[in-house]
Amino acid sequence: DQELRTLLLSRIHDVPDYPKPGVTFKDITPLLADATAFAALTDAFAGLCREYGATKVVGLEARGFILAAPVAVRAGVGFVPVRKAGKLPGATLGQAYALEYGTAEIELHADALVPGDRVLVIDDVLATGGTAEASLKLIRRAGAEVAGVAVLMELGFLPGRERLAGELAGAPLEAL
Ligand code: IMP
Repeated sequence: DQELRTLLLSRIHDVPDYPKPGVTFKDITPLLADATAFAALTDAFAGLCREYGATKVVGLEARGFILAAPVAVRAGVGFVPVRKAGKLPGATLGQAYALEYGTAEIELHADALVPGDRVLVIDDVLATGGTAEASLKLIRRAGAEVAGVAVLMELGFLPGRERLAGELAGAPLEAL
């Protein structure tokens, strides 16, 4: 709703020319430091979790971990990390994806999800959609179902939503 949006927007700071000239970075640390705003965000994500019938939440490294972990506790579902390649100790599934220059790879523990799981992916920012798209591929390869993707913010001037559409296959994408 509008009140939540206004609160969240007031706690997200634009940092010009970070991490490089010409890029404006959306800094969520003021939101995390505000107990009221962080709780309101957590409640909103947890509401989506229930609405979509999610049985697990996946957080995308690194800010997605901070946002998704309290949602898991609030919604009463498990938390599963998707990490940058080489960080998870067990057997993993890996998925490479294209960046502006070069490629990146993310991983999921092979046994973290089970068939029948319905997974809500949570992250702070949807930009080009590459990270979220790769995470949905991992979830499907693990044999689980995609319940949806929920982000704090979507950068509307980038085609992330369009890039994600195919892999979402009708599942909802919500930007709070
Ligand atoms: P994408 O793969 O291009 O959609 O980029 C999304 C990933 O990059 C997310 O995991 C975000 O945390 C991160 N990201 C991109 N832009 C920003 C930003 O302005 N602020 C914070 N994180 C960002």
